[in-house]
Amino acid sequence: MELTKFYSLPKLPYGYKDLEPQISEEQLTIHHEKHHQAYVTGANAILEKLDKARKEGAELDMKATLKELSFNIGGHLLHSLFWPNLAPAGKGGGRPGGTLADGIEEEFGSFERFKKEFTQAAASVEGSGWAALTVCKQTKRPIIMQIEKHNVNLYPTFEILMDLDVWEHAYYLDYKNARPKFVEAFWNIVNWDEVSKRLEEVLK
Ligand code: MN
Repeated sequence: MELTKFYSLPKLPYGYKDLEPQISEEQLTIHHEKHHQAYVTGANAILEKLDKARKEGAELDMKATLKELSFNIGGHLLHSLFWPNLAPAGKGGGRPGGTLADGIEEEFGSFERFKKEFTQAAASVEGSGWAALTVCKQTKRPIIMQIEKHNVNLYPTFEILMDLDVWEHAYYLDYKNARPKFVEAFWNIVNWDEVSKRLEEVLK
């Protein structure tokens, strides 16, 4: 019971070697076991600190605490969405189908245009951050989002269909500073079935 009030590191839906050559075993292992774990640990530590302070009636620096909390929870949740929207080459990559393909076509004019805009969004995030394909629940329009760090520029209630981590820790071992090469490789391992499933959830 108690455990569900805290976060835990989700297992990857594939092996550490399975995304090669796009993402190496070493890169993926460090990213998942060290970086993602750090956000889980960080979020839980702040939640424990909040629990403790409330119990003891202690003062907290709310501004700093909440900033740190949103950074860590954002990091955890974005990574939790990221891993399943990747799949080993063969299963991943190619193009989406069904409703997702129709929605992309309608919004962007073509899959190529969407791919170009998303690639540019991912390549140009300032500092550390993410690119995400989202859908607005009010208008049902797919919208590309740039997320700085893990929490800046997030649109409230927009559902994230697909996200791409462009923090250096996501690609540096494999691509050094060549972020665009990593973004290019990403298209070979997108799990379109998962992205489609998330869209269907929003539309139903
Ligand atoms: Mn990351």
